[in-house]
Amino acid sequence: MRSLQGEIEQRGSRIFELVDKNPESLFSKAGFYQRLMTLSMRDEQLKLQLFRFVDVLPSLRTSGEIVEHLQEYFAGAPDSRKLSEFLGAGIRLVRIVPFISGPILRWNVSEMARQFIAGRNPNDVMRTLRKRRTQNIGFTVDLLGEAVVSEAEADEYAARYLDLLEGLARETKDWTDPLGKNSELFPVVNLSVKISALYSQLNPADPADAISHLVPKLRPLLRRAREVGAFINFDMESYAHKNTTLELFKTLFTEEEFKDWPHAGIVIQAYLRDSEADLRGLIEWSRSRGTRFAVRLVKGAYWDYETAKSRQNGWGCPVYLQKPASDANFETLTRLLLENESVVTSAFGSHNVRSIAHAQALADELGIDRSRFEFQLLYGMAGPIKRALVEMGYRVREYCPVGELLPGMSYLVRRLLENTSNEGFLRAKFSENVPAEELLRDPCEILRRSRNGVLPPSNATINMTTTTPKTQPGAPYENAPLTNFALPENQKKMRAALDEQRKQFGRKVPLTINGEKIWTDKMFSSVNPSQPDQIVGYAAEAGIPEAERAVAAARAAFEKWRRTSFEERCQLLERVAEILDRRRFELSALEVFEVGKPWAEGDGDIREAIDFCTFYARKMRLIGRPRLTQNVPGEESYQHYWPRGVALVIAPWNFPMAILCGMVSAALVTGNTVIMKPSEQSVIIGAMLMEIYEEAGVPPGVLNFLNGKGSVIGAHMVDHREVDLIAFTGSREVGLWIWESAGKTREGQRELKRVICEMGGKNAMIVDSDADLDEAIVDSTYSAFGFQGQKCSALSRLIVLEENYDRVMERLLGAASSVRVGNPEEPGIVVGPVIDEAAYRRILDYIEVGKSEATLAYQAKDVPPHGYFIPPTIFSGVKPNMRIAREEIFGPVLSVIKVRDLDEAIEVANGTDYALTGGFFSRSPDNIERVKAQLEAGNVYINRPCTGAIVGRHPFGGFKMSGGGTKAGGEDYLLNFLIPRVVTENVARHGLAPEKTPEYRDEFLWPKK
Ligand SMILES: Cc1cc2nc3c(=O)[nH]c(=O)nc-3n(C[C@H](O)[C@H](O)[C@H](O)COP(=O)(O)OP(=O)(O)OC[C@H]3O[C@@H](n4cnc5c(N)ncnc54)[C@H](O)[C@@H]3O)c2cc1C
Repeated sequence: MRSLQGEIEQRGSRIFELVDKNPESLFSKAGFYQRLMTLSMRDEQLKLQLFRFVDVLPSLRTSGEIVEHLQEYFAGAPDSRKLSEFLGAGIRLVRIVPFISGPILRWNVSEMARQFIAGRNPNDVMRTLRKRRTQNIGFTVDLLGEAVVSEAEADEYAARYLDLLEGLARETKDWTDPLGKNSELFPVVNLSVKISALYSQLNPADPADAISHLVPKLRPLLRRAREVGAFINFDMESYAHKNTTLELFKTLFTEEEFKDWPHAGIVIQAYLRDSEADLRGLIEWSRSRGTRFAVRLVKGAYWDYETAKSRQNGWGCPVYLQKPASDANFETLTRLLLENESVVTSAFGSHNVRSIAHAQALADELGIDRSRFEFQLLYGMAGPIKRALVEMGYRVREYCPVGELLPGMSYLVRRLLENTSNEGFLRAKFSENVPAEELLRDPCEILRRSRNGVLPPSNATINMTTTTPKTQPGAPYENAPLTNFALPENQKKMRAALDEQRKQFGRKVPLTINGEKIWTDKMFSSVNPSQPDQIVGYAAEAGIPEAERAVAAARAAFEKWRRTSFEERCQLLERVAEILDRRRFELSALEVFEVGKPWAEGDGDIREAIDFCTFYARKMRLIGRPRLTQNVPGEESYQHYWPRGVALVIAPWNFPMAILCGMVSAALVTGNTVIMKPSEQSVIIGAMLMEIYEEAGVPPGVLNFLNGKGSVIGAHMVDHREVDLIAFTGSREVGLWIWESAGKTREGQRELKRVICEMGGKNAMIVDSDADLDEAIVDSTYSAFGFQGQKCSALSRLIVLEENYDRVMERLLGAASSVRVGNPEEPGIVVGPVIDEAAYRRILDYIEVGKSEATLAYQAKDVPPHGYFIPPTIFSGVKPNMRIAREEIFGPVLSVIKVRDLDEAIEVANGTDYALTGGFFSRSPDNIERVKAQLEAGNVYINRPCTGAIVGRHPFGGFKMSGGGTKAGGEDYLLNFLIPRVVTENVARHGLAPEKTPEYRDEFLWPKK
């Protein structure tokens, strides 16, 4: 008897034989597509540009625009000869008759898309399906356009699905099963659905909300599918939505109505490390349900996305990193499926002959008839393999996307990437002619032989804990990971932390001066803005005597602290980071209650605080030692830094931990002593930071915690002659006053006061005429309304080019009306309450101003009646000189300004007093370059939201009336807290100079030995 490997080789060779008998190449369409593939595989950089150009093309309206983009993308391309070959007539005609070349290119791209998209609409696709029927190939139809930004779009999509189902059922009612055997398992009509297309507000942290919205949308489709004898498959998308998709599937098909319906299927992605556990869970579920179901086993379409996303967020990567690991896991799961054939019907979704041959051989070994499972392949790919499988008597179904080119673009680009992937089977077989025996090798064997090739256990749990990375000296800085709320264990931890915090409501916190806990007769209450009758805590309130004591304590502690080695100070910050990390859920939960932060925003704030500590510790080590300025014989000059003295830190409530901790940590690590005054609205979080610093071992007096009214103690200390440095983040009004007041020198003052001042913004986002609206709308909506618009970086002016205006407005208003507003204790809430009653009234006043100046284009209706909830509001017809376009509102209010062209857009964007953040959505390389150069903002963001700066990655801070030009989380931030000093010594004696001068000298650093 032959081994399984022998059987696989035999079957694989047979498939190859049949493939070679029908020698249609994978890259069968000659011309444009053929050339695109060839060029892309030759040059990665060019591939990127080519695919980007293909991506933007369908959204360009005129020939002129097409030609301009063509020139922008490819001017100066290194392989210009090849490029003009590729573009053929297109490029030659550009210069001669541009109006002809545009349509030619557009035609080429839509022809290429037709290779992968089976039809533009349900009627059109029937032609393809009929043709395939004659070839004994079945179908599953997928409706393109899953990027919905609003519930209106999602509802429209659901309705189109229902129509599609009706049409397919009608047109195929007399079609019969191609194999004529076990046909009850394989209905003719098969639909593939993506859940992200049916609910625009999917939030991985809140599967229950997603399910409660998706179940009623899917029921009518399932009901109808059942009536007409069709099959429904749930496609699988990114990892963030995997658990929700699985949960939804189980929920729906356990309902009484669908419990005994076998024609439901779901995708399992073998590239996921936890796919085996998921599949086992499904099989177990199916046994208790008592009805069979189906699984389409694939490797997975989002590998690049998942690896990039997890790296960006510092998460463990959910996908295998070695291609043979995905292949091997595909085989493990094939076995699991076939061994459970009694409850699960398998569809193997692969173009890889090894994976296919393995399924065939294993099914035979287990005695499963070939009519009881199927192979599924994508439309437009691997035609010869499909024909070979049909010829071998297997059941083949083709995945047929339907839709227009524009909504189908992301699908098309995924296919182009798949076909040109270095790792892919299709490229290896059909383009690089890798020999059959190589292609049929056992992936486990390949892994064993690879240098470090150990296949991680496929049921390994993914380590996605939120442990702060310990960056080794010299290694690149690594941010702490965000909490991945897609993981159920993190959802549970957050819920538990919220419960725990609720129990702590009403706690009392003292002042801390010189290490002493001080209670005063005045207590200050901090309330939950979602429910103002809930008191989160009480804080002792300082008056002038306590402020005086704090200044004296900080001054007294300074001499010793400045002499403490910078290494010790760095270690203090690192201990603080560790404690923040340990108490992460607790602190995020506290933010939900004290300042109304949605879950992910609260977590982001704690993460940023951790990052500030680790980043500044690292930077201090780099600048802490006296360093040689220039190497000249006979003289040594060393520059180093001294702390400034006593620092007063005044922080806002909107990033209650991060900004406070960032300013405090920078001041402490540089050797200053600190009086920290948190915002009155987030005083409990401030007290937690004091507690954490004490646990980490900050000496008495070095950090003092003072809560009180800015107008009383804040003002007193700003003017105090013993205060040398003020680090302030907050409103323009207070910031300007501090700037001015600190400029006056008081009697007995020893230093010129240094002010680090970060204020507000009136941030603009420009939407170009070729922008990708799927992204622009989602990101603008989030930038404007996330955390109720209370970030200094938040978007408040959307500047739209008139060509795009109507489409942008239609989608923007839809998106805004779908955003979830409510109490942020619920995980999926985007817009919570504003901070307090004063803010609430001020924002409502601005809305009235807006109504009198411009047109109210949208205002949410259903906001909770209690608490400080402001409905997300959009004004259109806004002119640049209106108050709502000039003044900072700091709430969920967005002004839309229509402009003629990019010149006007930039002029309007730059035409305010502020320069904090700014953004641009465009796919024109030239326009992007222009905006990068001309937009007046401290942080310019292209094709992404304008909020969410990350320490070290996006040093943050603005200029003009947004701030003094400092960059929190940046390379040179610490220098603001220091005084540079240079020590020069003539080391030559009678012309005799030492041969070597050390780069560093630590002798004149404290402590002295
Ligand atoms: C009919 C059908 C339906 C599909 N539906 C879905 C779906 O709903 N959801 C979904 O996500 N995918 C889906 N896919 C899968 C996806 O679109 C790709 O076609 C498939 O992953 C390619 O695998 P292959 O076996 O054909 O090719 P192969 O060339 O053998 O495998 C390529 C795959 O290997 C994986 N891979 C690539 N590089 C690495 C690496 N360095 N380390 C580890 N793994 C790597 C990736 O998944 C890549 O797609 C579907 C595929 C088909 C055929």
